[in-house]
Amino acid sequence: KTVCVTGASGFIASWIVKFLLQRGYTVKASVRDLNDTKKTAHLLALDGARERLHLFKANLLEEGSFDAAIDGCEGVFHTASPFYHAVQDPQAELIDPALKGTLNVLGSCAKTSSVKKVVLTSSIAAVAYNGKPRTPDVVVDETWWSHPDFCREMKMWYVLSKTLAEEAAWKFVKEKGIDMVAINPAMVVGPLLQPTLNTSAAAILNLIKGAETFQNSTFGWVDVRDVANAHILAFENPSANGRYCLVESVKHYSEIVKLLRELYPGLKLPGKCADDEPFVPVYHVSKEKAKSLGLEFTPLEQSIKDTVESLKEKNFFN
Ligand code: NDP
Repeated sequence: KTVCVTGASGFIASWIVKFLLQRGYTVKASVRDLNDTKKTAHLLALDGARERLHLFKANLLEEGSFDAAIDGCEGVFHTASPFYHAVQDPQAELIDPALKGTLNVLGSCAKTSSVKKVVLTSSIAAVAYNGKPRTPDVVVDETWWSHPDFCREMKMWYVLSKTLAEEAAWKFVKEKGIDMVAINPAMVVGPLLQPTLNTSAAAILNLIKGAETFQNSTFGWVDVRDVANAHILAFENPSANGRYCLVESVKHYSEIVKLLRELYPGLKLPGKCADDEPFVPVYHVSKEKAKSLGLEFTPLEQSIKDTVESLKEKNFFN
């Protein structure tokens, strides 16, 4: 079977490509720059790549850019989307590539009869940010939707970009009769295949690189290998439908620091919170739907350990 992975060089996508090749798929993988070895060498070195990996150049903002990569594919894993927080122009840097890019990719899917199913890498960002209280008695699940107005009010531009992109994707596939499943992971950690630093791995690196304080934030956390697996399980399972939240556990940064301290007593870790406010409370995210795919979650402690080992191995810190 032939499938397409967009944004193949990224943290999550690299693992999806690895697992797809392992399972015998032929993979048409899109990257932005075919000549940038930092984005391609790790993919070309994967087992099975020489025989079954084909690279294509595509940019989210160029209409029709994905036609060649998608044509002839049975499945499309659309992961490409910018994930940064420090942006000058949220519309140009985050919202346009996320939203127009998703419609662009889906447009290419609609042009060919080969595509049977699309797996969209959305995010918990499109689920949990709507102003409803998130406290220890609350269980967030797939019925939740983030609210664009709330995101704009809070200036959460990345969250807004993912919300608008997933909303638009559902509207488009309903109109065109395309089968789609969305995967909604929380903060993704675990080992890096790519040589560059992605935003969620940077969240852990910042804690172990000598920061004085940790952020007063609470996030869901999940392992990158589980996220990649969920994408493939959702593609392969004919009864998979709708959205799948992926969260192993929800923890405040203080708890992540505690975990790191237990694992690595020698590390210099931040000793205090960045502000004097009460800690942002934890909440729950339902695992029921994810488990129905047959997914088992890697314990967060293991994921954090593997993240640190990977960051060491890749010389991001000593
Ligand atoms: P990465 O930054 O590692 O990957 C992002 C990918 O998107 C890269 O391949 C990047 O290409 C590509 N991309 C960005 N802009 C463009 C563009 N204009 N045209 C073509 N490609 C582009 O991040 P992740 O692997 O973490 O993210 C992958 C997906 O997972 C995203 O959709 C993200 O929103 C989602 N996600 C991530 C989470 C996390 O914690 N990591 C949590 C939930 C969802 P290039 O390498 O050339 O920049």
